[in-house]
Amino acid sequence: MGRRDPTGFLRAEYDELAAQDLDWRIKLLHGPSAPRANVAGRENTIVLCSNNYLGLATHPRVMEAAAKAVATHGAGSGSVRPIAGTMDLHEELEKVTARFKRCEAALVYQSGFATNSGLIPQLVGDGDVVISDELNHGSIIDGVRLTKADRMVYKHNDMGELEDRLREADGKPYRRILIISDGVFSMDGDTAPVDKIVGLAEPHGAMVYIDDAHGEGVLGDGGRGIASHYRVEGKVHVEMGTYSKAFGVVGGYAAGSADLRRFALNKSRTWLLSGSHPPATTAACAEAVRVLESEPQWVERLWANTRKFRKGLEQIGFDTGRSETPIIPVMTGESAKAKAMSEKLFELGVWALPIVFPMVARDKARIRTINNARLTDGDLEEALGAFEKAGKAAGVL
Ligand code: PMP
Repeated sequence: MGRRDPTGFLRAEYDELAAQDLDWRIKLLHGPSAPRANVAGRENTIVLCSNNYLGLATHPRVMEAAAKAVATHGAGSGSVRPIAGTMDLHEELEKVTARFKRCEAALVYQSGFATNSGLIPQLVGDGDVVISDELNHGSIIDGVRLTKADRMVYKHNDMGELEDRLREADGKPYRRILIISDGVFSMDGDTAPVDKIVGLAEPHGAMVYIDDAHGEGVLGDGGRGIASHYRVEGKVHVEMGTYSKAFGVVGGYAAGSADLRRFALNKSRTWLLSGSHPPATTAACAEAVRVLESEPQWVERLWANTRKFRKGLEQIGFDTGRSETPIIPVMTGESAKAKAMSEKLFELGVWALPIVFPMVARDKARIRTINNARLTDGDLEEALGAFEKAGKAAGVL
């Protein structure tokens, strides 16, 4: 037997990624996440790739809440939630979140990823079936991988196929049927027709779980999310969300009935077995939700910027795909063009990342832009000018 090299794969697999240009080369933020930031030492770079849609990461009330909580509650929570790690701050955040989402109750997790990977495998198991959109987020895919339930995948947003899968599932002796979908799909910025999903689920007694990570703070009444946008509030059994995007902090939650909350907190392994949020995070999340309740104008501003930017890109001649939200892809086709364009954009003072194979199909590479409520008209015009120049330089226009 040859001698095994126990760690040789670490270098070899990385080299393979690097040879295909698929390794991450991370740019550092020197200072806060803001729409104009110091990125890799470049002051004042226009940021079009952050999920801090409303600028709440640097909202004075949110920052103050974090600082105050350190003073009153310390730096850490001391435990997992069920043992000694639930503070009054955690329950307050859950109350504020449930109120905002117009749900009976909410349960806060350490992240959106921990919510999906901890809760999905408890909702279904042996003898059940999950029906999932083919473009669902990786955290949903990992959650589904942890279940012993059967899996069915339907073509992206194809309601005819979802109906077929539901009929097929109903014809078998499954205990439970769970339909699961992103609300907003983060590669294209399109939305799932949640009203139709709810309508199809009802006659089959299927449970509906929607990941609203990119919907809250963006869609619906005052940014209440995708269920509000499609006027099906109260009809989505599990509204999963995150505090890491429009709320500008970090954390995840599941909102729905009081039964859901009690079930989830007694069963989700990520919730039961991993330390809870520190006080600063929890208090900042709660204040971010309150800010959104009292300052809904940021959502309006986000949409005004989104409309202006999309129109500008289209007038220049770019293809913006099927976006319906502030996530706007600028299609380049080939991966090499997306990469060249992103580099040129950065030289011109705009930070927007290329999305290439294997994240999207080989001929569907793009620059993905994510808009921001705090960009000024002048910032948007400057960014559009840079897109035109970079698009020409990369051969996209
Ligand atoms: N779901 C979707 C659709 C997401 O885009 C993300 C974040 N990338 C998550 C879940 C995970 O959320 P978090 O960052 O809170 O872990």
